[in-house]
Order: sequence, then structure tokens, then C-alpha cells
Amino acid sequence: MATPLSLFETRTNILDRIARRAKLAGRKTEDISLIAVSKQQPDTRIEAMLATGQKTYGENRVQEAQKRWGETFAHKRPELELRLIGPLQSNKVAEACALFDVIETLDREKLAKALVKAVEKTGKLPRLFVQVNTGEEEQKSGILPNALDAFIKTLRTEYDIHPEGLMCIPPAFENYIGQFGGQAPGPHFAFLKTLAERNGITKLSMGMSADFEPAVEFGATHVRVGSALFGARH
Ligand SMILES: *Cc1c(COP(=O)(O)O)cnc(C)c1O
Repeated sequence: MATPLSLFETRTNILDRIARRAKLAGRKTEDISLIAVSKQQPDTRIEAMLATGQKTYGENRVQEAQKRWGETFAHKRPELELRLIGPLQSNKVAEACALFDVIETLDREKLAKALVKAVEKTGKLPRLFVQVNTGEEEQKSGILPNALDAFIKTLRTEYDIHPEGLMCIPPAFENYIGQFGGQAPGPHFAFLKTLAERNGITKLSMGMSADFEPAVEFGATHVRVGSALFGARH
């Protein structure tokens, strides 16, 4: 049996694939950040990933992230960028503001209100991405595409909140329905870019283990890779 790849080698492979696809697309590699999605991963793997020099991590639950990055690996926290990529409840906003550098899942006005309140208390507002439900799937978070422009305008004018990016999770392949029925995620990525451009937004968080290469081709500035980087989640 072949020796399993170390996390260092796995990460290097993924960074190489990002670089190759960026080059093919005529983009600069340094314009694309790899977010290591550490949710549900054991501490030993996190430790190995930290040792590779990986600085950017994504988490989808506030409480789990607090335990990992506020307790177990708190000594590493100052050198890292932590990003919330999972749905946020308004009663968790203050905790999320305290822990995360970036919240990628702003998708409703209630959260904007809670963010403003949290800032009054903590003085710190994370950088923000708006999550868009490009596949218009009922079970998914994210604002519907046709409500996005008005939402961003409201954020800017009524809350003085200026999102720097958009984020999407396209439908899983087998669930493809709606306007892009039966296709690969490319159209979702292209759509997110169009939505960002028409709102004067430059950053795009899109692409996961199965599709980060096409995401790079379609303009992702952040790819969120979990299982392809760490191995299967526990
Ligand atoms: C879990 C998760 C990922 C990573 O998924 P993989 O397929 O393991 O790469 C990316 N984005 C979000 C929002 C997630 O919840």
C-alpha cells in the first residue's frame, strides 16, 4: 500500500492545482486565497495543517469554532484569519463578531441589525460577504438573487455596512434544478460574478473540494476546501 500523503503534500497539491488553473484562466495566483475548512476535523489534523503554514480557516458553527480557535488552539489565533462560512443565527452575532475576522453568510436584514448592535458593544465589525442562494434552493441559506441589489443598497445606506464579497454554495450535482438544470456549477459561479460586478463588489467566495478549479476559472478570490485538504470529516 502506498504511504498516505502528508497534509503538507496534500496542501501543496491543492495550491498547485489552484495555481495551474489560475494560469490557464489568465489570473494571478496571489489573487486567490485557500480557505482550509476545519469544521469537524480532529485536533491532530488541525495541528498538522497549522504546521504547514496555512493561515486561513473556515468554520460553519460558532460554538465549534470557539472551542477550537478560542480554546484548543487559542495560542495560534493571533496569526490566523478565521472565516465563518455557515449560517448565522442573530442571537450568535455578538459571539461571531468577537471570534471571526470575516463573516461570509450575511443574508438578511435582521443580521445587519444585530451586527450594528454588536459593534456598538465590541467596537469590532468583521469584514463581510453576502451569501447568495444562486440555486434558489429552499433548504439553503442565502439571499435570493433577485433581492440582492436592494439588500446591498439597504446595507450601505441604512446600516453603513459595506460587504466586500459575495459567497455561494451551488446545488449539489444530483439536486440540480431550476434555471441551470442538470449542469455543472460553472453557471452559478459566473452568475455570482455578474451579481458582484453590478454591485461594485470584487471578492467572490466560491468553490469547494469538488469544484474549486472551475471556481478559480470563473473568478473566485476565495475557495473553501475541506475534505480534499484534511481528509473526510468525522
Ligand atoms: C463544509 C463546507 C465547505 C467544504 O466542503 P468540502 O466539500 O469538504 O470541501 C465549503 N463551504 C461551506 C459553506 C461548507 O459548509
